[in-house]
Amino acid sequence: MAQLSPALKQATPVQVARGEGVHVVDTAGRRYLDFTAGIGVTSTGHCHPKVVAAAQEQVATLIHGQYTTVMHQPLLRLAERLGDVLPPALDRVFFLNSGSEAVEASVRLARQATGRSMVVAFDGGFHGRTMGAAALTTSGSKIRAGIGPLMGGVAFAPFPYAFRYGWSEDEAVAFSLRELDRLLITAAPAADVAAFIIEPVLGEGGYVPTPPAFLAGLRERADAHGILLIADEVQTGFGRTGKFWGHQHAEGATPDILITAKGLASGFPLSGIAASEELMAKAWPGSQGGTYGGNAVACAAALATLDVIEEEGLVANAAEQGLRLRDGLQKVAADHPGIADVRGLGLMVGNEFCTPDGAPDTAAATRAHAAAAEKGLLLLTCGPHGNVVRMIPPLIVKAEQVDEAVAIWAEAVRA
Ligand code: PMP
Repeated sequence: MAQLSPALKQATPVQVARGEGVHVVDTAGRRYLDFTAGIGVTSTGHCHPKVVAAAQEQVATLIHGQYTTVMHQPLLRLAERLGDVLPPALDRVFFLNSGSEAVEASVRLARQATGRSMVVAFDGGFHGRTMGAAALTTSGSKIRAGIGPLMGGVAFAPFPYAFRYGWSEDEAVAFSLRELDRLLITAAPAADVAAFIIEPVLGEGGYVPTPPAFLAGLRERADAHGILLIADEVQTGFGRTGKFWGHQHAEGATPDILITAKGLASGFPLSGIAASEELMAKAWPGSQGGTYGGNAVACAAALATLDVIEEEGLVANAAEQGLRLRDGLQKVAADHPGIADVRGLGLMVGNEFCTPDGAPDTAAATRAHAAAAEKGLLLLTCGPHGNVVRMIPPLIVKAEQVDEAVAIWAEAVRA
């Protein structure tokens, strides 16, 4: 009998039997409020009837079309439909399976399109576990430790994490842009840099929204030096932050390449890349692709996901419930000085635990996270120190469920 490898780690002890909307039910029949959404994937909730119906119909029609062999209709329909939600200039797309693959494909595209080799990523960023994506990742050492050498040509610039530095947002942005400018005349000469890659909200690195002025500053520098701006919207896309795309919180910071995954297909493995026709034309035919990319059932689920997001007004709901959640969590934090910062955008909210002298308090975050699970609320931790407890419920979450989660959280941190 084979057993699971210890290389995998499970955040909660829950053995899940089924999912229903904002809840999962374990094998003993206990219901949990799922504020992890499969790490931000089940955007329309678990097993939304419309997504289920679309997937079932597609399973009975065509499961695997293989787009480098034959083209199939769900993929073409999805490409067309994404045109309604993507920035208008990004009118060419292709599909893969996971966020990591799409990140690697974005680097491949940026290098081909610019003829340059370097990529600048930002401290605390998470872009995936495959070797190229891991090379861009600094959200925690476990992603990189002991597996090098990783993909070369990567340089890191500071991320404006104002709370950690103890600065105002303006100070953090000014510092980070100054350091980036220095990097571009030192370790990463601007003429060698193909792309900047950034998450609109630092995700695994601690749920820190990227200040709009920083994204705008990157856009300016990208334009000045012929560098491409890649927005890794794997976690922030598809309504998660209360706008359809996370980068839309910063005016005028439209990326050249946008990466989407997670919430895109409500749980089916699907990722995608979007860029302009001009940019994509610089990638030679056959230089991108993969056996399972753009799977027909996943594309059908993504089309249904787009319908549900639109019909149920889920982007607006994410903004509204996100504010309610943050407000509730701030009240909890006011009574618990160990929660030193509550922050987020839309339904991507982090609670950072610190000791009285401001050091990351991993132990307190770990205890609160475990206590919440015991009380029926599933959460995740993040940040390089694992001292941020994050909440990332499905976009269908209702006010009562937000209030219930906040009440459980208040009990969990008291315990
Ligand atoms: N980029 C970001 C911003 C992510 O949050 C993640 C996953 N947490 C990835 C890339 C990697 O995606 P995947 O796990 O699907 O490879």
